[in-house]
Amino acid sequence: MIAYLECFVQENDTESQPYDVVSGLGGALDLEGTIDCGDGAKQAAKDFGGMNSLAPLAFVRPAGTGDVASVVRVAANLNLTAAARGNGHSINGQAMAVRGLVLDMPAMEDHFRVVRTSNDSGYADVSGGALWEDVLKRCVRDYRMAPRSWTDYLSLTVGGTLSNAGVSGQAFRYGPQTSNVTELEVVTGKGETFVCSKAENSELFFSVLGGLGQFGIITRARVLLQQAPDMVRWIRLVYTEFDAFTRDAESLVTRCHESSDDDSFDYVEGFAFMNSDNPADGLPSVPLHPDQIFDPTRLPEEAGSVLYCLELARHYRNSDHPSIVDMGVTRLLDGLAFVEGLEFQVDLGYEEFLLRVKQAEEHAKASGIWDSPHPWLNLFVSKSDIADFDRVVFKKILKDGIGGPMLVYPLLRSKWDARTSVVLPDSEIFYIVALLRFTPAYPKGPSFESLVAQNQEIVQYCTKKGFDFKLYLPHYRSQEEWKRHFGNQWSRFVERKTCFDPTAILSPGQKIFPRII
Ligand code: FAD
Repeated sequence: MIAYLECFVQENDTESQPYDVVSGLGGALDLEGTIDCGDGAKQAAKDFGGMNSLAPLAFVRPAGTGDVASVVRVAANLNLTAAARGNGHSINGQAMAVRGLVLDMPAMEDHFRVVRTSNDSGYADVSGGALWEDVLKRCVRDYRMAPRSWTDYLSLTVGGTLSNAGVSGQAFRYGPQTSNVTELEVVTGKGETFVCSKAENSELFFSVLGGLGQFGIITRARVLLQQAPDMVRWIRLVYTEFDAFTRDAESLVTRCHESSDDDSFDYVEGFAFMNSDNPADGLPSVPLHPDQIFDPTRLPEEAGSVLYCLELARHYRNSDHPSIVDMGVTRLLDGLAFVEGLEFQVDLGYEEFLLRVKQAEEHAKASGIWDSPHPWLNLFVSKSDIADFDRVVFKKILKDGIGGPMLVYPLLRSKWDARTSVVLPDSEIFYIVALLRFTPAYPKGPSFESLVAQNQEIVQYCTKKGFDFKLYLPHYRSQEEWKRHFGNQWSRFVERKTCFDPTAILSPGQKIFPRII
């Protein structure tokens, strides 16, 4: 079927969408899917960050890999750009393409196949545009299997998180999602389609993992699976002192061995929160169940205005006797220095645990803050600098909170493959810090410009102090800044670009390379 084309020139945008290019698209693209240059394309001008709005020339809903390759080739011929759009959950317009073609990756035909390689392991071949929540449901419900490494929130696409890293509380054990795929199908910036893995077309494989969409469009991924547990014991432990919190968090992530279930929790995260009554980021945000209450009299007198919480989870089966589950958890908690009486536990199904942020999404949508701007900041900070970071950033710059979670938990560099395009701090232990701001839109809340300025203050402080840190889900405006971000990996990144997308067609919203015409 030839694409249904409904193109028009936006009245006030004739310069950026010249009629000859728009009309030329109709003839050039022979798609099985559909293309929309009208109102339907406006969806591609939005993202979760809500701070940028750049309409593409057209929004293409590809039916399959052939359509993706065709779009890239047409972008090459018509001097345009092309961006894969996952679920548009970027913050800074990274999936946008002004004067370009945006591909609606979730629209691609469904590709789903599970192969069991042993009793408790296997893999799933899934589409690049699949949502992780759908991968979860299909793997668990039909096969009692599940991917090993997740993100906290699952309405994100496989290709979108693999283009960054994909991090959650399982990453200390299995590495990020980029460490848990063994094969990809990729359409490069030359419009060529390859299957790649560590053994086959390996340079392309490692380039696209964490590659910020710069080298190719991931149309299929092979994701490692493990046996899915039935249940999860979800635990939160409160700390008043940052050094006790980090000591315990580091001991939990370093004592684990991938192969031995007994030594370790299955999930380790942590967050900073306010010693206040604020439901969004104060004491009420910690308990795991409406029946649980945070009793502030348990806090020692010397507790400051910022507190910390370790968040842990342990998998188990329905067939495990409750006393065995309790004993296992008690053993793992033994010796941890959390505040007595400020521990919270709840048992819930595995799917419910992994989909826990969905509930928060529903609440935020009901109150309108899901659709407010989200000037989020994510960083990786080395272990050696995290105490100073806490002293100045959490305790001073963010002393009034951010209206949402301030995640901070350790990860292990050795679980990340240095051949991927992700850049990390140098130390083996580094922390992810995620400032997930949820404030009402201005004038009910602060302006997003003031929050962006606060993010800049944090980054400038880290830079001035010479911290060993990197932005995660990075956003810069100039190539000079990108060069600094990549440091000694910049030349590798440029070589990869020259090899796989020499005219810089792909993901222009990252603002790394200008289109070469
Ligand atoms: P998009 O935002 O649409 O795209 C991101 C970039 O990847 C763009 O440059 C795009 O062009 C490119 N891209 C998209 N698809 C492909 C593809 N198939 N092939 C090649 N390039 C592609 N991240 C974590 O690591 N851990 C978390 O726990 C986590 N939680 C989050 C919670 C929320 C509520 C939100 C909004 C984001 C969260 N993220 C988390 C960030 C998330 O990983 C990024 O937003 C990421 O970009 C994935 O989103 P997406 O699938 O919508 O991709």
